[in-house]
Amino acid sequence: MSDGYMRFAHSAVGKKICRGLGFPIPPHLQRANKGPQEVVKHILFSSVNQPNSAISNALADAALDLSVQDQQRYNGLIFDASSIASSTELKQLFQFFNQHLPLLQRNGRIVLIGLNPQSIDDTPQAIAQRSLLGFIKSLAKEVGRKGTTANLIYTEINCGNEVASPLRFFMSNRCTYVTGQVINVALPLASTVDWQQPLAGKTALVTGAARGIGADIAKVLARDGAKVIGLDIPQSQQLLNQVMNEINGDSLLVNVTDANAAELISAHIKQLGGGLDIIVHNAGITRDKTLARMKPQQWDLLIDINLTSIERINHSLLNQDLINDGGRIIGVSSISGIAGNPGQTNYATSKAGVIGMVESLAPKLAAKNITINAVAPGFIETEMTDAVPFMPRQLGRRLCSLSQGGLPVDVAETIAMFAAPNSQGITANIIRVCGQNIMGS
Ligand code: NAD
Repeated sequence: MSDGYMRFAHSAVGKKICRGLGFPIPPHLQRANKGPQEVVKHILFSSVNQPNSAISNALADAALDLSVQDQQRYNGLIFDASSIASSTELKQLFQFFNQHLPLLQRNGRIVLIGLNPQSIDDTPQAIAQRSLLGFIKSLAKEVGRKGTTANLIYTEINCGNEVASPLRFFMSNRCTYVTGQVINVALPLASTVDWQQPLAGKTALVTGAARGIGADIAKVLARDGAKVIGLDIPQSQQLLNQVMNEINGDSLLVNVTDANAAELISAHIKQLGGGLDIIVHNAGITRDKTLARMKPQQWDLLIDINLTSIERINHSLLNQDLINDGGRIIGVSSISGIAGNPGQTNYATSKAGVIGMVESLAPKLAAKNITINAVAPGFIETEMTDAVPFMPRQLGRRLCSLSQGGLPVDVAETIAMFAAPNSQGITANIIRVCGQNIMGS
């Protein structure tokens, strides 16, 4: 799991060689250590025309430090482009960023706010707003070498303060490995704002919580105030108990492929009482083989763990009304499920299915006030990726705008953002936590 190239590229000799050969020098990324209350300081906000009252309210709710003056050094740039109505007005993007980018510090945070083109009738305006996506993706690729992230929030006309939650996330070091992404916010928000312990009083179930990404999801949700039930296979009992002891969580030893898994989970939730507020379907495996060489068991087991068991568990919990009003269902997809990958037909099928689940269930669950979203991690440093052979492992790390693998906590932070009550306006989103990996971007 240690990145030898990164250490080499930062040594005196390595730096010279990498520069000479034009190889990337991966930036040192800053990560949050205080949780959701931590956002970057010295942010410059600007807007095409006067910001509308909804954006102003969202900024106030997000409680960001916007006191910075023109021409100071910034840690964050926010540009509200939601009133750009034609392609000629896009020039304002150029003017703002051309002037202020040179003053943005390393590990800076950039957010562009736009209007979801699909919510716009007027064609020139829809075209201009759709253009923002190309702009932010290219900008993210340019600034990645400095550890800077650039993301887009699409809102709808008459938006409310639902922009505050993604805005704070993208203006913090919790999004350090999320860049070149767009997040769509739509529904009105009616929850209280608690940026310290947003998940206080909530119960969360995390599958595959004994190690890797799942262990970090459990820890981050607990840090944000949730009571966590960590689920894993009986063979992982010791590891799972260690994680749960650390966060005062509950261990649930269940293999999600067991015929009675959904029943055991439901029984556990009923026994605790109070229902479930958050479920994170993280448990997953790989069984890589080219299709012609793949054994039927390698297909069957993987699809069952990564996809079908999730459907069974959701179905059972929803049917019994065990997911509370305002609940959150969060899937863990993969960039493989977006772009495909040789040797991963089974895996990519399952992970694309997770995206299908989000897309299909989101409108149905909206009536129950439940949101459903997924993360699509890229190369994350875990035991799963440690097992990848040397060359693909090196390529997996390097082929992204940040030239390095992410950490499990990066995925966990994005999931915690989806889980927060103030993210009620975020549903049907797939956020790639991949440092803008070139696969499928
Ligand atoms: P990991 O192998 O380190 O951890 C997976 C956990 O799931 C383990 O604790 C394992 O015991 C548990 N698990 C496996 N089968 C189970 C079953 N049948 N029932 C209950 N628990 C089970 O993997 P990871 O790298 O932490 O990956 C976590 C998730 O993230 C997976 O869904 C994976 O596909 C996805 N993902 C990982 C990466 C990456 O780069 N690591 C990239 C994209 C997506």
